[in-house]
Amino acid sequence: MAQSKQQQNLLDKITAVSKRRGFVFQSSEIYGGINGFWDFGPVGAQLKRNIRDYWWNTLVRNGHVGPDGQKFDIVGLDASIIMSTRVWEASGHTTSFSDPMVDCRKCKQRFRADLLPETKCPSGGDHDYTEVRDFNLMFKTHVGPIQDDASVAYLRPETAQAIFVQYQNVLTVSRTKVPFGIAQIGKAFRNEINPRNFIFRSREFEQMELEFFVKPGEEDKWHRWWLDQRLNFYSELGIDRDKLSIEWHPENKLAHYAKACADIMFDFPFGCQELEGIASRTDYDLRQHANHSGKITPYFDADTNERYHPYVVEPSAGLDRTVLALLCNAYTEEVLTNAKGEEETRIVMKFHPRVAPVTVAVFPLLRNRPELVEKAETVFQLLQPHFRVQWDDRGNVGKRYRYQDELGTPYCVTVDFDTIGQGELKAAEETVTIRDRDTMEQIRLPISELIGWLKEHIGV
Ligand code: ATP
Repeated sequence: MAQSKQQQNLLDKITAVSKRRGFVFQSSEIYGGINGFWDFGPVGAQLKRNIRDYWWNTLVRNGHVGPDGQKFDIVGLDASIIMSTRVWEASGHTTSFSDPMVDCRKCKQRFRADLLPETKCPSGGDHDYTEVRDFNLMFKTHVGPIQDDASVAYLRPETAQAIFVQYQNVLTVSRTKVPFGIAQIGKAFRNEINPRNFIFRSREFEQMELEFFVKPGEEDKWHRWWLDQRLNFYSELGIDRDKLSIEWHPENKLAHYAKACADIMFDFPFGCQELEGIASRTDYDLRQHANHSGKITPYFDADTNERYHPYVVEPSAGLDRTVLALLCNAYTEEVLTNAKGEEETRIVMKFHPRVAPVTVAVFPLLRNRPELVEKAETVFQLLQPHFRVQWDDRGNVGKRYRYQDELGTPYCVTVDFDTIGQGELKAAEETVTIRDRDTMEQIRLPISELIGWLKEHIGV
């Protein structure tokens, strides 16, 4: 897809603020970096964790209520990254988990044949492509001290297969019944031909996957229901509804085992792209593993006395892509006039308080006045058990606000001379100022009301 200069500019700005404030760094940066790998810095790691925890905490529990009012459970799994190669043979990944690839004979670069660049060849003129070949995306390694064919293993290219492989064990231990789900969050690895668009397409990434097992015949109802649930999830993370859309895969593009597939798309600066895929996968995976292992028996449905392999609805989300969607959704520039009458640009990351890496920053007005610092420390200690709190006493308060705006901190609390009763406001109660990130308005509030007020406004 062609990118306009403005769109590229926006992605560059988001990349710059990510580096400047510690959301995302290039992996191995001091050694020149490594293409397709990224590190999450202090606030990025927290942002990622907040999304991950929200996904897990809202999904993995008993007593969900489904589309017709039926109750169901979702249980968790944390499987190993390296599994038996037989898993990937049964799932079909060793033979068909590949992307079409071409080389340019002139510049020697490799490209995904379905995502060819619109740019000219650096050697001049058009690229001169070879025939299309399949390139398997799985990273290979060896297990144990002998590197031969028998010791080959793969880093998992998706977390889903482990769920199918452990399905029988989970079913036995969790005393649940169909419909039910198994959820997993973890790293996946794909040797992408062209990693690109910052953290959108990388070679190591994290997935949040749910395999939801239903009675055959009920999959369409559940597929639609999960699509709604998953859209709500992104709204609850604070993503604007008008930046989200749904794209149904046309029937002729579906994988041979899939009944239907719909993607949740986000309007990234480089175009509308997939955040999450929600596939209706029939009983293909369970059947494959049942046939290859001989260890998975059909499910016995005690309500109907039937035996079957459940059908699967799979909402499969990318955590890193969700981080990028949140960064893009939050990034805002506002032109303000400063005290000297000059125009300046305020960059604000407008994260929903639910995911903001820091929810409250606490400042003493001046760092060299022990009475202010001491009181601010008391406020900091008071808030710390309830919120993600950051201490800041560097520079002037205006600069601290700008810094916190770029971290996306919804509220800043300042302890000033009025707090300690030396200002104009000789309040009966100690008060602090709270400054709102989005409106930049400030109000005064007694310290005793601070926790309640913040909880109400942050929504925790
Ligand atoms: P794409 O078409 O973009 O390559 P896909 O359809 O192969 O993705 P799935 O196999 O359905 O992706 O994986 C589920 C989710 O995992 C995707 O929706 C995406 O959020 C995430 N994901 C997949 N590949 C990558 C990658 N290389 N980097 C980051 N996230 C990824």
